[in-house]
Amino acid sequence: IRNCQQKFNATLIPGDGIGPEVVDATVKVLDALGAPFEWDIQHAGIAGVEAHGDALPPQTLASIRERKLALKGPLTTPIGEGFRSANVRLREEFQLFANVRPVKTLIAGRYDDIDIVLIRENLGGFYVAHEYYIPVGDDPKAVAVSTGMNTREGSKRIARFAFEYAVKNGRKKVTVVHKANILKALTGIFLEAAREVAKEYEGRVTMNDMIVDACAMQLVLNPWQFDMLLCTNLFGDILSDELAGLVGGLGMAPGANFGADTAIFEAVHGSAPDIAGRGIANPISLLLGAKMMLDHVGLPDLSARLHNAIFDTLNISQVRTGDLMGTATTQQFTDALIERLGSLK
Ligand code: ATP
Ligand code: MG
Repeated sequence: IRNCQQKFNATLIPGDGIGPEVVDATVKVLDALGAPFEWDIQHAGIAGVEAHGDALPPQTLASIRERKLALKGPLTTPIGEGFRSANVRLREEFQLFANVRPVKTLIAGRYDDIDIVLIRENLGGFYVAHEYYIPVGDDPKAVAVSTGMNTREGSKRIARFAFEYAVKNGRKKVTVVHKANILKALTGIFLEAAREVAKEYEGRVTMNDMIVDACAMQLVLNPWQFDMLLCTNLFGDILSDELAGLVGGLGMAPGANFGADTAIFEAVHGSAPDIAGRGIANPISLLLGAKMMLDHVGLPDLSARLHNAIFDTLNISQVRTGDLMGTATTQQFTDALIERLGSLK
């Protein structure tokens, strides 16, 4: 029996666009579940700029630094020079080098029985974004240059994270995704590091590798061949949206960012400005992010109850939001889910 006294202090960031709507739904569900989180609400993204003049205000950083645990709605990067993505800044600030993006089928769709975990390197690659223009003649932006960077140490660290994840979660195969035929240095070092780390796991976890374009096709043709994907930053960004598409779309895909001592949980999707404020967003991505957070703090029973309740709401109650061809609002879905939680007690 769990010690009911233990509380977990965590930062809660409502975020932008549909963020506050899905965060509100998620907190209500966690309350109904009896999840022992003590929230400290802080702002970031456009909301951070509006509240404190900064997309990543010092008080938000301080809150996360103290708690080392956060649940975060999507953040919009303000358009214009001088604004770096608040998401990228957060990852750098807390050295959240690993991004874990699992997808698992919850509803019948084009594909059944999808169960894949993508591990994305979160700090390097082209996201270092050292970009500049070279002027030619009277055109100041005649040539655009972008450089990416992967270190051997960073590549080994994320590979080790992936293989450790496999061992802890009973997964058998890691597919390393790269473009080492063209980006021989940038993604070659990543593949090399993964091969080296894989040796330590021989007999427990197998490794193969695939060029990113082939992998994108194989994910559509035969996604069941994949168990885990280990990707560089940009490829992981792109393929995790493709993975979301295999299980019903961006409304179904959670993510977690891990550093040495800090973890931030989120949805894979962005702020979806086209549907923001209408109360129709699907909160499942962030709910599944909260499920990962429950696993992280060592509450697998609550995590399993949440997962089962989401499954039953979709498939027994048949309550679904518009992105899943249903008619429910965010609120109606949330209410139905809370009712399900009650009947699972
Ligand atoms: P951002 O610039 O913040 O990334 P975006 O315009 O790229 O925002 P995303 O949130 O990445 O939007 O998602 C793309 C589209 O997918 C959205 O415009 C929206 O229509 C749909 N979508 C994303 N998340 C959800 C959700 N939780 N529920 C319903 N639809 C969603
Ligand atoms: Mg987006």
